[in-house]
Amino acid sequence: MEEAQRIQALPPYLFARIDEKIAEAKAKGVDVISLGIGDPDLPTPDHIIDKLIEAARNPENHRYPSYVGMLEFRSAVAEWYKRRSNIVLDPKKEVVTLIGSKEGIAHIAFCYINPGDIALIPDPGYPVYGVGTLLAGGVPYLMPLKEENGFLPDLDAIPAEVAQKAKLMFLNYPNNPTGAIADESFYLKVIAFAKKYDIIVCHDGPYSEIAFEDYKPLSFLEVPGAMDVGIEFHSMSKTYNMTGWRIGWAAGNARVIEALGRIKSNIDSGVFQAIQEASIEGLLGNQDIIQEIRKIYQERQDIVIEGLTALGWSVERPKATIYVWPKVPKGFTSTSFCELILDKAGVVVTPGNGYGEYGEGYFRISLTINTERLREALKRLQDNFGKFEF
Ligand SMILES: *Cc1c(COP(=O)(O)O)cnc(C)c1O
Repeated sequence: MEEAQRIQALPPYLFARIDEKIAEAKAKGVDVISLGIGDPDLPTPDHIIDKLIEAARNPENHRYPSYVGMLEFRSAVAEWYKRRSNIVLDPKKEVVTLIGSKEGIAHIAFCYINPGDIALIPDPGYPVYGVGTLLAGGVPYLMPLKEENGFLPDLDAIPAEVAQKAKLMFLNYPNNPTGAIADESFYLKVIAFAKKYDIIVCHDGPYSEIAFEDYKPLSFLEVPGAMDVGIEFHSMSKTYNMTGWRIGWAAGNARVIEALGRIKSNIDSGVFQAIQEASIEGLLGNQDIIQEIRKIYQERQDIVIEGLTALGWSVERPKATIYVWPKVPKGFTSTSFCELILDKAGVVVTPGNGYGEYGEGYFRISLTINTERLREALKRLQDNFGKFEF
């Protein structure tokens, strides 16, 4: 039963060791608080659930859905972008429904990567960008996201011969795991680079609605020229607390959207229509919920930033996302420091190297836990740790 090379090539699961430690601590009776999970703890809003119940009773929705998504859902996505970013998308040609954006992110490489072709991958980053590339026989070329560059890739550092072999570039702002953001001048550079080397830009933007104070993240698609070179992956998951529902989309360049839809029509059969109908309600119905969600994460972010700052730890306040990305003190690796936090305080945080080699030296705190538990976690850190050198 020898496994195919393509799955042998997949990277090892880097959180295995910390998972073992969590299981050990729980077995010893430790009341473990997990700040490790990138999955909203808040429930899906009621009006979306009500719509699902109603739509689930309609027998028309019990049959195979359209492969590329109901036109009504794709039109709702186009309308959502219109309202949000004042951009006009053709729902028939420029939007495809996905079974969660992860599905499309994994499949896009199959549309454009021949064996040996390069995909430019941000590191640290969401692991699926590299995994999709490897499964398609491609070669991930890592673009380091360094703090001194605001966790943006340095395009000038990509050798011309690499850029010439590159077919895809993945980007993700607001960024998981660093919490970094990108502005128009960065995206304009990306678009010029993509045009020069004929690279398709795949912007992954699931955190675009989770931003703080007055900051409003750009959609990649609203940047002049973006529609010529790329697409944006997006999803109901983080904006509407719907990670378990499995629905997202890709929008942008019509040729790329058509190619992605063609792959999908050959291997899956679309998203349950009742879920698409409920998602239309989510996208076009009452949006007050988003403001409430932002307030909740803002309060949690305050607790973390104020708590860590009081400890003298090195941390920046992100303008968006559900994450905080503090530095690991001198004398520790990401893994050893996260293990120490678990051992001393019973608090789980994820080591930065789990998101790639350039995540080493950081750890990720996720704001997906209620304020009471979060305060308790910070209190435990304050009770068990003092100052460190950074
Ligand atoms: C959560 C997340 C996704 C996946 O979202 P789904 O639509 O639920 O598949 C994609 N990219 C990043 C960076 C994420 O954090």
